[in-house]
Amino acid sequence: MTASCPKYRRILLKLSGEALMGAQEAGIDPAVLLRFAEAIHDIVSDGVQVGLVIGGGNIFRGAGLAAAGMDRVKGDQMGMLATVMNALAMQDALQRLGSEARVMSALPVAGVCEGFSRDQALRHLDQGRVVLFAAGTGNPFFTTDSAASLRAIEIGADILFKATQVDGVYTDDPQTNPKAERFDRLSYDEALARKLMVMDATALVMCRDHDMPLMVFNIHQPGNLMRAVCGEPVGTLVLRDTTE
Ligand code: UDP
Repeated sequence: MTASCPKYRRILLKLSGEALMGAQEAGIDPAVLLRFAEAIHDIVSDGVQVGLVIGGGNIFRGAGLAAAGMDRVKGDQMGMLATVMNALAMQDALQRLGSEARVMSALPVAGVCEGFSRDQALRHLDQGRVVLFAAGTGNPFFTTDSAASLRAIEIGADILFKATQVDGVYTDDPQTNPKAERFDRLSYDEALARKLMVMDATALVMCRDHDMPLMVFNIHQPGNLMRAVCGEPVGTLVLRDTTE
């Protein structure tokens, strides 16, 4: 650890539900879950306060259920409950490693986890507990990217980390277009104007308007979370103003 590391005091980490699947078609791969939990445990041990939002795409997505004929709001409620399951799995993994962790759900799931309270979340964070923000925003028609941007702003995170399967934001899909180029830095306005696959527009606008920096990086590369927390340029940095 260098003298300036960790660079950030408090972060909000967004993990997609799909990241938990590993090579499986759905659900949670316990080995992958443990690997992510270890990476989070390491940065918490270095004194970083961590808020965590995990998606639900490895279980249910409302849009997919609606496409199959289900009422969209019901589908989104199922998607939000899926994020609660993922959060409980991560809480368990973190606690097995010795990190204290609390799940706070935007929908009441009494007896299973706490309801979301911003003040209580700040108390948990100050005491070194990982706070898992579950059930997204609690509203249908939103995504967990929007929930992550909202919670990052609410808890006063220094930065939002979006952990993905690729090492940043590209001009096009790098898996299908070999000429796609990666951005080191990018403004929210450019991401919106070029419809780049960073986060959904609601989440991007929230971050832009509240001046929340975003780092998009590959979580599957070992050591990357620690490097990101130390301020290393492991991915694409998205800012309101890239001249800053
Ligand atoms: N969801 C929702 N409101 C929210 C967040 C999520 O209704 O504020 C639902 C929505 O159906 C979404 C699902 O939960 O598809 C899972 O979240 P998401 O698709 O963001 O998960 P990820 O792609 O990150 O795994």
